[in-house]
Amino acid sequence: MTDSPQAADYVQAAGYGSAQTPVAITLHATCPESLVAAPPIQTVQPGSARNTASYFATHANASAHYAVDVAEVIQCVPENLQAWHDGDNWQSIGIEICGQASWTREQWLSPDVYPVLERAAALVADIAARRGIPIVHRPDDLRAPGIRTHAEVTALLGLTEGHTDPGQGFPLDVCLALASGDDMPLTDTDVKQIAFAVLNGTPLDGPEGGILASWIKATRKDAGQAKIDAAAARALAEQAAAKASGLTVDQVRQAVADAIAAQVTVTGDLKVVPR
Ligand SMILES: [Zn+2]
Repeated sequence: MTDSPQAADYVQAAGYGSAQTPVAITLHATCPESLVAAPPIQTVQPGSARNTASYFATHANASAHYAVDVAEVIQCVPENLQAWHDGDNWQSIGIEICGQASWTREQWLSPDVYPVLERAAALVADIAARRGIPIVHRPDDLRAPGIRTHAEVTALLGLTEGHTDPGQGFPLDVCLALASGDDMPLTDTDVKQIAFAVLNGTPLDGPEGGILASWIKATRKDAGQAKIDAAAARALAEQAAAKASGLTVDQVRQAVADAIAAQVTVTGDLKVVPR
């Protein structure tokens, strides 16, 4: 019996602890299969969550409450019991997102991987609603209700065991925005990226243009259906701009931040007007 309607199945983990009343959620990206894959997997495979659950079922020294891949969510430990997931395990629900801590933001937001973020965000939203956990990032305090990453828990505990997941490229902002139902955060950089893509002739017809258009629509806060596409659209816009310019996505962001702002004015309704 699963606690979350988001979970497709329950596979009991071998390792778990005493009773808890969860007030926090810890996000991970360290599916065991990724530890043995060579070369490292480049996308999230269907079945990864079940493989992770199988690993937890046969390895009593590690567990998490949920494993998530692009296809489904598998629960492994009841929410009202501790799981062995972050070295602290205090009143926290652990979610293993089947991805790699080494991935860049670009990889996380790529069309093949993005669905795992949506699925994880929907699970976070469900847990938060049922448990009264605020969907706020609290990397600063182990006892604060909210959302943390495994790497942040490791740092707060002062451990040197090397857990860096879900990784520096993990788009926590996108995940939390999806979970909270907020409009996607629109930063200055985002606006400049729209300007950059438009200035560089990114086609506004075709799939990229369609998604870019829905991104712009979403960030204009008349979102609706378009909102859910926002992060994928951002990734496509970044990739399109990088492809057009021959730069990496990070270089695009920097170039846009440094140079494009001086070339255009972005009006209140996000029309890009040359200065
Ligand atoms: Zn972890």
